[in-house]
Amino acid sequence: MDKSASATSTGQGKGRRLRVVLAQPRGFCAGVERAIEIVERALEKYGPPIYVRHEIVHNRHVVERLRAKGARFVDELDEIPPGSVTIFSAHGVSRAVEASAESRDLPVIDATCPLVSKVHSEGQRYATQGREIILIGHAGHPEIEGTMGRIDGKVYLISKAEEVAALQVSNPEKLAFITQTTLSVDDTRAVIDALKERFPGIVGPDTKDICYATQNRQRAVHDLAMDVDVVLVVGAANSSNSNRLREIAAEQNVPSYLVADADALDPQWLEGATSVGITAGASAPEDLVQKLIERLREIAEVEMETLPGITENVRFRMPAELAELAG
Ligand code: SF4
Repeated sequence: MDKSASATSTGQGKGRRLRVVLAQPRGFCAGVERAIEIVERALEKYGPPIYVRHEIVHNRHVVERLRAKGARFVDELDEIPPGSVTIFSAHGVSRAVEASAESRDLPVIDATCPLVSKVHSEGQRYATQGREIILIGHAGHPEIEGTMGRIDGKVYLISKAEEVAALQVSNPEKLAFITQTTLSVDDTRAVIDALKERFPGIVGPDTKDICYATQNRQRAVHDLAMDVDVVLVVGAANSSNSNRLREIAAEQNVPSYLVADADALDPQWLEGATSVGITAGASAPEDLVQKLIERLREIAEVEMETLPGITENVRFRMPAELAELAG
């Protein structure tokens, strides 16, 4: 196999060798990098405390680091003192949340990922055309709450192809679909196919709402799973894109585990394995991957490889009020 990088480390593990293969790309996407940088720049410009509605991204380690710098994370806006600088997370918010911030006189900096905002505009554009919207996504995820709350008119939420048959729409000729940004491409295609079969006149973006970072990481973990005995996905349990990565690896019949950090590794998972693949969700920092590798080095002598893959150069602009500060 073609390998873009190869190195052997002297592990503390005795007598056991383990090939550790890293997926490429993995970890932070441009939307997560931007959201974290927004909180850091806001702290620099306005000083602590800075209030953030919900986890800025779905990762406890990221949240704790920002909390240590003076960010305060709240569930609801009424926990924020009037006039305090408030940041909306990368997942986006509904118009009702925006209006509530305005009524409480909260100066808001919006860290919604531009690719989530793009889905909001697309959904509203279809609604303006008089179409009802079928949103493919997972109930309860903050991105879905935000998207549903930004579209005027009827939005039906479904997550599986089997749910299409039960949909009761007003006019089958005036329908559109949009999707959450972090879904499995293959599963979503199956839902879209079922929608098109039942509603031939439906319009939508195919799987293009699933963002570049999600698609690249899914392709990479698919390749990774074909090459190793066990896959470890570094990511939080509530991270949608991380869960999809684990599922895609598992679909290749490779034992696959989601680990929040190195402490979550159970050495029993590696029994009999000679190779371990590692990837990380879009909200998982690279140092968690490196700590996981260190942990593996305690178990075995590790030989490192990185699979070839796409190099990402995506970067999103800062909100205007923070643009002048150095990154
Ligand atoms: S996973 Fe995609 S949509 Fe979500 S923050 Fe990252 S780039 Fe944006």
